[in-house]
Amino acid sequence: MTSAMIFPRIRGARRGLGAALDLLLPERCPVCGAPLQGGSGAALCPACFAGLRFPAPPLCGRCGLPLPASGSCGCAAGGAIRRRRFALFYNEVSAALILRCKHGDRPEIAGRLAAWMARAGAELLAEADLLVPVPIHWTRLAFRQYNQAAEIARSLARLCGTPWDARALARIRRTPPQARLPARARRRNVAGAFAARPGAALAGRRIVLIDDVATTGATAEACAQALLAAGAASVDLLSAAAAVPGET
Ligand SMILES: [Zn+2]
Ligand SMILES: [Zn+2]
Repeated sequence: MTSAMIFPRIRGARRGLGAALDLLLPERCPVCGAPLQGGSGAALCPACFAGLRFPAPPLCGRCGLPLPASGSCGCAAGGAIRRRRFALFYNEVSAALILRCKHGDRPEIAGRLAAWMARAGAELLAEADLLVPVPIHWTRLAFRQYNQAAEIARSLARLCGTPWDARALARIRRTPPQARLPARARRRNVAGAFAARPGAALAGRRIVLIDDVATTGATAEACAQALLAAGAASVDLLSAAAAVPGET
């Protein structure tokens, strides 16, 4: 019996226990662990919420970053991704929140991120035919049992009524985590790592690619290339957070 066959059962039991404890104990802030005020429905405690940074309009229609006072962004056109939007700047608080989402023990976090993304990505979602989460390699899925990008896409699909397909793309090559690599090596690392699944209905579709964190965009670019190669009409990127130099 492989570890992958054993762990889900243990995790399932833990999740069940967690759900039972939630009925008895006050909800806690997923970032700092402080008890949340009962019945408020708040995602985070007020102190952590104040640490989140949302991009404030007016935003560049292409890269989604706040426009400078001059009104012109200067971002480069080209590449497989047509437009980008993100809900949060990547900083200490959003990183901690997304890390909790990754662990899968607080499934409501994906829903909260999706709600913020629905607002940030309204323009992209209004035209979308299909949401496609950035996939993780099946060996990682087997071990971790959780792809947070897929969980976010599932919540977003429910919110905006757009179909989603977690199997449209496959990670065909296992790659070292991008975070451990210098920026220039990231593009090489993920080149050719993704492919559209044979039979996925992508031709002519306007796709919004969903990810948790966008950094250099190399992963999203490789995914978008695979989707366009399979006939997609366009690919936009909507991420929960984006790492922007000088913006935390
Ligand atoms: Zn907190
Ligand atoms: Zn721009």
